Amino acid sequence: MLHHIIPQPNDLRFTGGVCPAQRPLVIRDAAVPPEGYTLTVSKEGISIRCSTEKGRFYAAQTLRQLRNSDGTLPCCVISDAPRFAYRAFMLDSARHMQTVDEIERLIDAAALYKFNVFHWHLSDDQGYRIESERFPRLNEIASYRAMHGFGSLDRTRYGGFYTKNEIRAVVAYCEQRHITVIPEIDLPGHTKAILAAFPALSCRGDRVQPETRAGVFREIMCAGSDETLRFCCALLDEVCELFPGPYFHIGGDEAPKHRWQQCDKCKERMASAHLDSFEALQGDFINRLATHLRQNGKRAITWNESLQGGNLAPDVITADWMDREILCVRRANNGGDVIMEDFFHYYLDYPYAMTPLKKTYDFDPLPAGLCEAGKQHILGVETPLWTEFVEDFGHLCDMMFPRMMAVAERGWTREALCDHADFSRRAEAHRALLDAMGISMLPQAQWDPQPLLRLQKLAQHYKKTFNKETILSFLQPKDDAD
Ligand SMILES: [Zn+2]
Repeated sequence: MLHHIIPQPNDLRFTGGVCPAQRPLVIRDAAVPPEGYTLTVSKEGISIRCSTEKGRFYAAQTLRQLRNSDGTLPCCVISDAPRFAYRAFMLDSARHMQTVDEIERLIDAAALYKFNVFHWHLSDDQGYRIESERFPRLNEIASYRAMHGFGSLDRTRYGGFYTKNEIRAVVAYCEQRHITVIPEIDLPGHTKAILAAFPALSCRGDRVQPETRAGVFREIMCAGSDETLRFCCALLDEVCELFPGPYFHIGGDEAPKHRWQQCDKCKERMASAHLDSFEALQGDFINRLATHLRQNGKRAITWNESLQGGNLAPDVITADWMDREILCVRRANNGGDVIMEDFFHYYLDYPYAMTPLKKTYDFDPLPAGLCEAGKQHILGVETPLWTEFVEDFGHLCDMMFPRMMAVAERGWTREALCDHADFSRRAEAHRALLDAMGISMLPQAQWDPQPLLRLQKLAQHYKKTFNKETILSFLQPKDDAD
């Protein structure tokens, strides 16, 4: 019998007949896995067996999707639990912000698909997005950039930040839906907005502005300065207070080493800490922040570049976005925890012409080369949505849906049950449900464009994204060039 539950339950048996919708009987059973549930729909009624409130919540999400159009439920027995314990979506609110209402709509959809983590990217070269009482200059200077930027013709000042109350509201909204929020303050790179407010934190102390371009920039935090470290720790403390979850993402990606190579303080730190490379200096910087976070009861997460120095502390979680299955596989095999968010499959800001639904869906989160013990250290999946070129919420939804649902299924459902064609059929059946939640989904005809069409679409996309404005902005003299 056909159904349209996403993610596909791991064990589902239809038993024949229907039952009127009614309040389920909840039975606590310590033998059921923490996020698992057994749902029984029979002519006698509906029951949920679970060991936690979270399991009950996931059973309720399945029930919502099981309902027939006439309001009845097909009789069945579902015994379900996730393949991975970590199932996340990431939203970049630094490049472009979303309203709290829009973010809550995404959280509603994420909960429906049994995601349990919202990774919120709140600081980057182009803006700092958290209210700060401790460092008001962050909101006065780092939260605003001179123009909309990123190739837009709009030259008006752009910016803003989420107040502490707004952030607390989002965290509470997530908590009610069993979603942990992980804040990200990207350090030591991607910090031009913070450096615009506090130039002394960089190696040279040059005055810079929050960026209006996309990319990777040479001005980064000084890794040898005690003052910089003290600032970063104080900033993390302030942000930690808003997020009760056990994790904190401290970035650690795309940090060019040009400034460190010319900096006496950075070289002194390398000598005193016996570090043999600038990549190891980055590992050292991340480790010192991770130590500080540990005192706040939090575990640090960092992007895969921070593995390159070979000295990353064992308990720091690595997010594999661009590792090509080398360092992260070694990390997991050596007992380090890893999250899979592969650029080529799970980055939802790239067009369907580059990353069709099937490519996202068919990607197996477990990379080749893992030993049995290593597999236990792949915590799960995450799908990021970066917003340099995604500023309108309708566009954002089109990019995320249905690909985000595909990642939800790969994070929950065992490999043998995953089937792209069947997933597509079920995803299309969710259109009205999502629509009622204020979420649009890309028309189905565009999910998996044919190869020739993909090339044409890709050309159109880049022509639109990299227009004359963008190209001219690339040619402008860079304030951060040597
Ligand atoms: Zn330095």
